[in-house]
Amino acid sequence: MDLVFPAQKQTTVAVDGTNAEFPVHRIYCVGRNYVEHAKEMGWTGREAPFFFMKPADAAMSVPAGTIGEMPYPPMTKNLHHEIELVVAIGKDGKDITVEEAPKYVWGYAVGLDMTRRDLQAEAKDQGRPWCTAKGFDFSAPIGPIHPVSATQWIAHGAIGLNVNGKARQNSDVNKLIWNVAEVISCLSHLYTLKAGDLIFTGTPEGVAAVVPGDLLEGEIEGLGELKVKLI
Ligand code: MN
Repeated sequence: MDLVFPAQKQTTVAVDGTNAEFPVHRIYCVGRNYVEHAKEMGWTGREAPFFFMKPADAAMSVPAGTIGEMPYPPMTKNLHHEIELVVAIGKDGKDITVEEAPKYVWGYAVGLDMTRRDLQAEAKDQGRPWCTAKGFDFSAPIGPIHPVSATQWIAHGAIGLNVNGKARQNSDVNKLIWNVAEVISCLSHLYTLKAGDLIFTGTPEGVAAVVPGDLLEGEIEGLGELKVKLI
């Protein structure tokens, strides 16, 4: 097949313990999936999970032992951090049951769902889409993916984020309102999941603004650290 110009480069994410890379297909994100964060965003009761997406090339791979450099995005004065457990899908599937969901997980990583909170607030007020608030360039920094063969199924474990050495977010993955298997099942009824999909599973409470020069250090038990400097 002839292309009228060269295709854009495939976005990939580092894999822990190997030089092979994980090719990214889509990035799905879950909204309000920890009770205390849902409350800080105005939640009033348990709701069905809801989803939004980021473009695949918003993923910014930060290999182990490195510090990712994220440019402060344009058109915002209120960039927020959201530390999240990321699930990497390794097999195509749709209408997946909760029981079958674990078979579709290739691995896990620490990710940041960076958010232009001012644009999101405006979108909410106007009943408009969140795309510009969530799906901008470099909006999804992500640490190396740890194969599930090494981590086993993740149902609990400390999740946290420090900014310039000070704790901002601290919780446990066991506080997810909809757990990893439930999220995979729900999503797979809306979309055909594909090998290469990444799912950002939601952030705990403590989201706040960051500015150029800030060092963000995220960590999830068993998945190591994700360090990002805003430039
Ligand atoms: Mn999020």
